[in-house]
Amino acid sequence: MTYTPTTQQLRGLPVEVAECYGKPHIRAHYDGAGVKSHKLDEGATCATCPRLATNVHHCPPISKGKTFLLRSEWGAFDLKPALFALCGSGTTGCHNGFHGGARFKAVWVWDTDEFAKRWWSGWLLSHGIEPHSEQLYDMGSWKITDRILGSRFEVRL
Ligand SMILES: [Zn+2]
Ligand SMILES: [Zn+2]
Repeated sequence: MTYTPTTQQLRGLPVEVAECYGKPHIRAHYDGAGVKSHKLDEGATCATCPRLATNVHHCPPISKGKTFLLRSEWGAFDLKPALFALCGSGTTGCHNGFHGGARFKAVWVWDTDEFAKRWWSGWLLSHGIEPHSEQLYDMGSWKITDRILGSRFEVRL
């Protein structure tokens, strides 16, 4: 993976943050147009442990920007954060691990540079791939690092 979007496209965000917008959810979804319309999938378990999920994490957190405007040669796309089903709350359990606890870090990694290029050029989004589409798991995956266990695991479908 060597493909990097242009500075203009990133609009001040680190690439690993900008890359999370529009990517597949993990056992959660949006129930409406707004970023606060997030819902757990029925019976969802936590993305990072076997417990039942109790709430939803925005990746990246809404504080980084509610949406990200991807401007590209194939059009402009207003992208929302990906959603992760997690146990705990913003201050407890695995959800806290993504916030103050700083235990977990999630990045979206494309399988090849070609897929990254097709995303950042807007080609995928203008050719039938909806934001958050599970089809994106055919082209990349979430890599979640657990800083306490010192491990890294991959989430696909
Ligand atoms: Zn958990
Ligand atoms: Zn959160």
